[in-house]
Amino acid sequence: MDRITWHEYFMRVALLTSLRSEDTHTKVGSCIIRDKKILGTGYNGFPAGTINGAFTWEKASEKVEETKYPYVIHAEINNIFNCNTFNLKDSIIYCTHKPCADCLKTIILARIKMCIYLNDYSKNESHKKITEKLINNVDNFSIHNYYDLTNTKKGYLDHYERFKNE
Ligand SMILES: [Zn+2]
Repeated sequence: MDRITWHEYFMRVALLTSLRSEDTHTKVGSCIIRDKKILGTGYNGFPAGTINGAFTWEKASEKVEETKYPYVIHAEINNIFNCNTFNLKDSIIYCTHKPCADCLKTIILARIKMCIYLNDYSKNESHKKITEKLINNVDNFSIHNYYDLTNTKKGYLDHYERFKNE
């Protein structure tokens, strides 16, 4: 009987979770697991408890306070707070997008040992260098692209839209 691998299963959970995001531009999801058990999931959104419609999903405005950026919480941070335990030592996080530097720092702080991501996110060169420097200077942490790790065809799970249509 055919069945999907654990990697595919957990990445599909991250993709499914991203569909909960209200962000009209970028839907990000993640899933933290340990010993093949899901500890929690997360997606990008405004802090839980904020009033519906109070904040905009706009990316561009002359005033930064009128964009989404100062208010949104990234999927990975939501995921860490959403877990059924605060002890995330030696867990693995599956992310639909490569974590930003802030999320990466929080993932490392939470003692998560591995990150597996689908899509590269930042196109900013200095941001890329910052995340590389972080990754290269931490013990007991590794980060992998899903397709490289699983040796599967690039694009197979690439986008949540694709997932939605399957
Ligand atoms: Zn982030």
